[in-house]
This record gives sequence, structure tokens and C-alpha cells, in this order.
Amino acid sequence: MIIVMKIGSPEAEINRLCDELTNNWKLTPEKIVGRYKVVIGLVGDTADLDPLQLQEMNPWVEQVLRVERPYKRASLEFRNGEAGEVIVPTPNGPVPFGLHHPLVVIAGPCSVENEEMIVETARRVKAAGAKFLRGGAYKPRTSPYSFQGHGESALDLLAAAKEETGLGIITELMDAADLPRLAEVSDIIQIGARNMQNFPLLKKVGAQDKPVFLKRGMSATIEEWLMAAEYVLAGGNQNVILCERGIRTFDRQYARNTLDLSAIPVLRNLTHLPITIDPSHGTGRAEYVPAMSMAAIASGTDALMIEVHPNPAKALSDGPQSLTPDRFDRLMQEMSVIGKAVNRWPQAVPALV
Ligand code: PEP
Ligand code: MN
Repeated sequence: MIIVMKIGSPEAEINRLCDELTNNWKLTPEKIVGRYKVVIGLVGDTADLDPLQLQEMNPWVEQVLRVERPYKRASLEFRNGEAGEVIVPTPNGPVPFGLHHPLVVIAGPCSVENEEMIVETARRVKAAGAKFLRGGAYKPRTSPYSFQGHGESALDLLAAAKEETGLGIITELMDAADLPRLAEVSDIIQIGARNMQNFPLLKKVGAQDKPVFLKRGMSATIEEWLMAAEYVLAGGNQNVILCERGIRTFDRQYARNTLDLSAIPVLRNLTHLPITIDPSHGTGRAEYVPAMSMAAIASGTDALMIEVHPNPAKALSDGPQSLTPDRFDRLMQEMSVIGKAVNRWPQAVPALV
């Protein structure tokens, strides 16, 4: 259930209502301050609570609505229909993700391989306009014989790249035991497609305060994905960013996955959470990444995650879908045209030499 307060409701009245709901009704009110109005999300058993009774309880209550969807906190209704934002602190300053902010570009290699390559990639993607460096330390590989990531030592290399460039860091968490060390370096914690429904892991990242980047499971419905986000939100962490990275369909001959770009407008209707598109895993082929990146911007994505490697032919993972830094530079130029057209690209793009 959500309570929409009238514009200009005094803080003291909102707090009085929250106290009453906590003490007399044993509910957990969550105050959400939107652009125009304050909304109180009510969590708990509201079956006996009559909306009319609530309206009579406080003259500042404008409207009381029941949230019918199974995901409550993730739903758009929970914020009275307003898109939300996730603001991530980085050494270069806070970076906001969300509909009312510029497009955020996250770029970097699939895996952190050595210091030189990660620092060099970080410099290049920063110069091109990216705000975050991605790079896997712990890699979820289909085969146990494939490169598994350098683990903790890769976190040190990400820290060195961050120190050098001031970029925010995003890296994947697979095992809750690695969380404390990973969170020291990573500004956003990635939960990969294969762990989207790892509920104990979702509860763990819900109980800490670093923003969570939740990739869509490769066979997950939108509702299952939003229910996974709900686990993190219900754990107390309100900073969840969704990432569509391609789903399994019947044809895998020419593209690794099917990038579901329709997820962008669908999610806009269902949730307030910011949306990212990952065209690299979405297609599995570097040559398709530019077209999908531009289509994603035109479709209203809030962010893009793009794999960039200094020498894709030699990459230890996901080389075929990785762009070279030069190709990434050009892509940023190409994307700026679409980004400006949809008013999401105020940042300057350095000219190519
Ligand atoms: C990755 O980002 O490198 C990755 C493994 O992604 P996904 O979980 O989408 O496969
Ligand atoms: Mn990858």
C-alpha cells in the first residue's frame, strides 16, 4: 500500500503519520521523497487497513493506493509513478543513474588480466567519456577449465586503475565471502546473470549499502527479474540498477544471446529502477555492439555497459565481443549523436585525432 501526501505536507505531519502506522498498526513505513510529492510506502500486513480510515487519520493524505504487483518496492507505484535515481559516489564525483540524468557509460574488459592492461584500458575509456571501469576479478565461466579470474589480486589492480583515473569501479560478486574485500574497491556490486536468483547472495547485498547492479538471468522473465530486485530492496538497500544482457532464444548461431531492447519501455512502465543495457553479452559479437548501443540509447536506456579490451584477439575471456579502445572512441562519437537527440548527452566528447 502507498500513501501519497499532498504537496507541501509539513515534515512533522508526515512523521506523525509514520509513527502512528508503526506503533498502532505494526507496519513499516518507508518515506520516499519524490520530485514533487512525498510518498509513504507501507510494508507489512495492510489487509485490515481501510484506505478511507487512513485518509481520515491525517488531513495531509491525498490518496491511498494498493500495490497489486508481487514486487512492491520495485514497482513504479511505490514511487507514485516517478522514475527513481541511484547516485553513485566515485573519486571523480557523484554519478547519477536514472531517467532524468545523462546517459552513463560503463566500459572495460571482461576480466582484469594484468596491471598494464587494466590501467591502460581505464585511461582510454575515461578519455572517451566513460564514468565507470568494469572488469571481472571473479569470473562465472561455463567450463571449470576456463580462466576463472585472478580473484583478490585483480581487486588490487582495479584499485590501482581507480587511483590512476578516478573512475568508479564495478565488478562482479559471486561468493558472499568475498563481499567485504570486494566492497572496499568496487563502487557498484555486480550480480551476474547466473546469480540473478541466488537468493542468499541477493539478501547479502541487500544488507549492505553499496549500489547493486542486477543483471537479468539468461532465462528470466521480467517479473522474476523484478522479484530478484525486490530481494535486495527488501533487505534495506534501495540502490538497485537493472541490466539487460541478452536472453536465450532459439537461435544462437549468429548472436550469443537475444538482446531484449523491449525490456526498456516495458521496465519503464513497471519500475522506478534505473535501466542499463549490455550489448556486449547481449550479442556476443563486437561488430553488433555499436548498432545495439545506439538503439538502446534511442529506446531510452539510462546506462550502457560495454566490453573494451586493448587486444581482443588475446583476451582471456569474451574477446569476440570486446571493442578495441579505438573502436570505443569512435562509438562514443557515434552515440553522442543519438544521445544529444534524446537529450541525454550533455557531456563533451573529446574529438578524435
Ligand atoms: C560479465 O559482465 O562479464 C558477465 C559475466 O556478465 P553476465 O552475467 O551478463 O554473463
Ligand atoms: Mn564478459
